[in-house]
Amino acid sequence: MTEEFDVVIIGAGPAGLFCAANLAGLRVCILEKMNLPGRKLLLSGSGQCNITHAGSMGDYALHFGDASHAAFLKPALRALSNTDLLTFFEKRGMTFETTDAGKVFPTTRSADDVLDVLLDACDAAGVEILYEERVESVKKDGERFVVSTAYGKYLARCLVVAAGGSSYPKTGSSGDGVRLSEMLGHSIVEPKEALTPVYAENFRLADLSGLSFENVTLTIWRDGKKIGANTSDLLITRFGFSGPCVLDASRAMQAGDVLKISFTQLSAEAVDALLVERCRKEGGRLVSNLLYGLSVPDRLVKSLIEEAEIAEDTKGSQLSAVSRKALVRLITSYEVKISRLGDFSISMATAGGVSLSEVNKKTCESKIHAGLFFAGEVLDIDGDTGGYNLQAAFSTAYLAAQRIKAICA
Ligand SMILES: Cc1cc2nc3c(=O)[nH]c(=O)nc-3n(C[C@H](O)[C@H](O)[C@H](O)COP(=O)(O)OP(=O)(O)OC[C@H]3O[C@@H](n4cnc5c(N)ncnc54)[C@H](O)[C@@H]3O)c2cc1C
Repeated sequence: MTEEFDVVIIGAGPAGLFCAANLAGLRVCILEKMNLPGRKLLLSGSGQCNITHAGSMGDYALHFGDASHAAFLKPALRALSNTDLLTFFEKRGMTFETTDAGKVFPTTRSADDVLDVLLDACDAAGVEILYEERVESVKKDGERFVVSTAYGKYLARCLVVAAGGSSYPKTGSSGDGVRLSEMLGHSIVEPKEALTPVYAENFRLADLSGLSFENVTLTIWRDGKKIGANTSDLLITRFGFSGPCVLDASRAMQAGDVLKISFTQLSAEAVDALLVERCRKEGGRLVSNLLYGLSVPDRLVKSLIEEAEIAEDTKGSQLSAVSRKALVRLITSYEVKISRLGDFSISMATAGGVSLSEVNKKTCESKIHAGLFFAGEVLDIDGDTGGYNLQAAFSTAYLAAQRIKAICA
C-alpha cells in the first residue's frame, strides 16, 4: 500500500502534534508507533504538565546548557514564545497558573487536557493520525521522501522527524528518531541521559531518602577541577541525589565526578565562626543542638555528626577543633563520588541527538535535504526542569510548520 501526503510527520508527541495542528490546509499524516498519542506528554510534570516557564525569553538562554544550544533555539522561541504558546491553548478554552518558581501548569493540573486540545486542533486541521505505524526506514527519492512502515509506504514532499529522544523508552521515544535521521545522512551527537538523578558511591544518607532542601548549591569536580555548579532544590534519594539542583546539572556529569554539596547558604568560614562562638557561649549544650538557624534539618545534622565521628552525647565545650572542622566540611561541602547516572529508563530528557550544525535554526529545516525538518527532543537540545523542554518542542515544531506552509503553498 502506498499513500501520498504533502507532509508526513514521524511521532505524535507534543512536537509532532503541534506541528500538524499548524498545517491546516495541507494533507498531513502523523505516523505514530504506539497505539496512543503523547504518552510522554501525559507523564509530564507528574501528570500535571509543566507546559512552559514564565520567565523572559532572554532568560531561556540560561536553561539549555551551553550557549550554542540556546543560540540555535532563539529564532524558534522568537517565533513562538511562552505567551504565544499559552494563547494557543487559551483560545481553545484552557487556563493556566504559574508557581512562585515560574513553572506554568494548566489550572486543571491535567496533562490529559493539554493532549486533548492538541488532538482536537489536529482534528480541526484535518490531520490523519495513524497508530501502531512504526517508521522503519526513510529515504529521499527525487523530490519526495519515502517513509516505510511494516504496513506500507508513505510519500511526501515534506518530512518532519518528531520522534523524540531516548528517555523513558516505554513511552515510544526509544531512539528511532536519531536512527532515521542518520539514514538521511544527518550527523548525530551521541545521545546521553539528561535530567537524571545521580547514584553515589558508598552513599551514607540513604536513611534520609525523601528529605528535600531549598536553594542548595552543588559544584561538580573532575580530576580535581571544578567543571560546573548549580543552585536549586535538592532531594535525597535511597541511592544519592535528585531534585532540580542535580537534574538540571546532570547533563554535565559523568561517573567518577565528585559532587560537593553545601546544605546551608553560609560559607564554611561563617559556619565555623558560628560554631566556635556557640561552643564558647553555649558549651553545655549538645553539638547537635548548636546548629540551629542554618536551615539544616535535625535528621541531617544527626547523620552528619555521626559521619564526622562525633559521639552523640558530645557537648559544645568538648568539641575538638578537628571534629568541628570535619563537621563544618560535611555541612558546607558534602562530598560524594558519582558511581553512575540514572539510565534512560528514568532520565527525563536526552542530551545529544540530531546535530544542530546541519539544521537551519531559522526554519528547523535540514541543510542536507530540502523539505526535511526536525522538531522537539530528537534535536540536540535539552532544557532544564521547569517547562523548558516542552516549550522547545512546541517552538521548534511551530517554526518547522511555518516553513512547510511556505514550501507547500
Ligand atoms: C517523566 C517525565 C516528565 C516530564 N515532565 C516535563 C514537564 O513537566 N515539562 C517539560 O517541559 N518537559 C517535561 N518532560 C520532557 C518532555 O516530556 C519532552 O521534552 C517532550 O515530550 C518531547 O516532545 P517530542 O514530541 O519531541 O517527543 P516525545 O514526546 O518523545 O514524542 C515522540 C513520539 O514519537 C513516537 N515515535 C518514536 N519513534 C517512532 C517511529 N519509529 N515511528 C513512529 N513513531 C515514533 C513516539 O512513540 C512518541 O509518541 C518530561 C519527561 C519525562 C520523561
